[in-house]
Amino acid sequence: MSQPYTTVQEEIALPGFAGAVHLPGETGYDELRRSLNPSVDARPALVAEAHGVADLRAALLAARANRVPFAVQATGHGTHAPCDGGVLVRTSPMASVLVDPLRRIARVGPGARWGEVIAAAAPFGLAPLSGSASSVGVTGYTLGGGLGWLARKHGFAADSVVRAEVLLADGRHVTASASSHPELFWALRGGGGGFGVVTSLEFRLYPVSRVYAGFAYFPIEAAAETLEAYRSWIDDAPGEISTAIVLKRMPADAPAPLSSRHVLMLKVLHAGEAAEARRLLAPLWRAAGPALVDEIRETTYADAAMGGTPNRHMDMFDTVPGEVVDILVRAAEQAQTVEIRHWGGAMGHPGPDVGPVSHRSTKLSVIVDTVVPGLAEALRPYANGGTFLNFLSDPGRMAAAYTGADHRRLREVKRAYDPDGFFRVGHVVPA
Ligand SMILES: Cc1cc2nc3c(=O)[nH]c(=O)nc-3n(C[C@H](O)[C@H](O)[C@H](O)COP(=O)(O)OP(=O)(O)OC[C@H]3O[C@@H](n4cnc5c(N)ncnc54)[C@H](O)[C@@H]3O)c2cc1C
Repeated sequence: MSQPYTTVQEEIALPGFAGAVHLPGETGYDELRRSLNPSVDARPALVAEAHGVADLRAALLAARANRVPFAVQATGHGTHAPCDGGVLVRTSPMASVLVDPLRRIARVGPGARWGEVIAAAAPFGLAPLSGSASSVGVTGYTLGGGLGWLARKHGFAADSVVRAEVLLADGRHVTASASSHPELFWALRGGGGGFGVVTSLEFRLYPVSRVYAGFAYFPIEAAAETLEAYRSWIDDAPGEISTAIVLKRMPADAPAPLSSRHVLMLKVLHAGEAAEARRLLAPLWRAAGPALVDEIRETTYADAAMGGTPNRHMDMFDTVPGEVVDILVRAAEQAQTVEIRHWGGAMGHPGPDVGPVSHRSTKLSVIVDTVVPGLAEALRPYANGGTFLNFLSDPGRMAAAYTGADHRRLREVKRAYDPDGFFRVGHVVPA
C-alpha cells in the first residue's frame, strides 16, 4: 500500500546532507528544477545537489520522514512529471567517469552525461552505446533501455549493463548484478527509474573510432520513391549501418540551397569503411539523388552529431506496407518534420539474459513533431502499438513499453524492493 503524502507543508530539514540546498525564491532553485519538457513546471519544496551516496541517502530519508514526494534528476531530459512539494535531488555533481580499457568497461556516477563518457572512451578507440544527444544523462537513458546509433550493431544500452549500485527505498545500498539481487538487476535494464536511486553504473564499451556519418539532403519530390526503396532496403542492411529518412522543412537560416526548403534528409552512421557505406547506400541514392548537399563524411564517433526530432506523435512498425509510405508522404505536407528511423539488427537478437526492454522486432519508428489531424488514426492499423520507454513522455502509458509478462514481473520487483511505492514520480512501474 502506498503511504499518502502529507498535505500541509512544513519546512523540510535534511540532516546529514552536505551539498547545496535551494529553496523557492533562492538562487539556483529555478535553474535546477527545470525540465526540458516544456509542459512540466515542477515546484519542489527544495532542490538538493547531491555530492555522494551519503547525500542521496540523507535526502531520501528526509523525504520519507516528511512523507513528501522524492525524485532524482540528472539533466532534466527525461523529467516528464513534477516533484511538486517534494525533495528533488540533482545528481549532476556526481558525474565521475572511469574507463577500464582492458575490460572495455566504463563506470559512471549518476550525474554523468554521454558526452563525458564518449570523451573518456575515445582515446582507447572505444565508444559507449550513447544516443543522439551527448547532453543526455547516462543513467536515465540506460534505465529506459537506451537506443542509439550503434544499437543495430550492439543492441540497447541496457543490454550492456554489467552492474549497478542502488540506494533502495529503505535506505540500504546494494549491488545489482547477475549474481547479486538478480531480479533488481533484471528490472533496472529497461524498467525505468522506479526501483531505487542508481548511484553508479558499469557497462560495456565497444571498439569504434572512425565512422562514416552525417546527413545528405535531396529534393522532397523524391520522398515517395525513396521511402518505397527504403521499405525493401532495410531488410538487407547489415547491423553496421544505421539510417533515418527525415522529411523536413528547413529553417530560413540554413545554407543557400536548403534555406526554407522542404527536403528529404538521409541520416547515416556506418561503423565501418566509407566505401562500403557508399556501396550499401547506392540503392537509396539512386532513388533520391542527386543530392542538394552531401555532408556525410568520415569522422570520429565523438564528432558524429546525429540530432533528433521532438516527439509529438510516435508509432512503431514491425512490417511496413506501402500504405504506410503513402500516409507518411501525405503527413509531410502538413508537418514540420517526419522522421522515419530504421531499427532491428542486434536489438532483436539479444543475449540470453537481458532486461525487460520489449518490442525488439520493431523495424521502423516514425516520429512527427507536429500535430497532423487524422495521422494517428491512419497509422494505427499498421503500427505494433508499442513504444520504447525513452520515447514516451506520458508516464501513464508505461505498460505499452513492455510485454504483459514483463510488465507483471516488473510490478513484482517493485513490490519486493519498494513495497510502499516510495518512488512514484515519473516513469515508475506501479507496485
Ligand atoms: C534531446 C534528447 C535526445 C534524446 N535522444 C535519445 C536517444 O537517442 N535514445 C534514447 O534512448 N533516448 C533518447 N532520449 C530520451 C532520454 O534517454 C530519456 O529522456 C532519459 O530519461 C534522459 O535521462 P536524463 O538522466 O538525461 O534525464 P533526467 O530528466 O535527469 O532523468 C529522467 C529520469 O530518469 C530516471 N533517473 C535519472 N537518474 C536516475 C538515477 N540515478 N537513479 C534512478 N533513476 C534515475 C528518473 O526516473 C528520472 O525522472 C533523448 C531525450 C532528449 C530530450
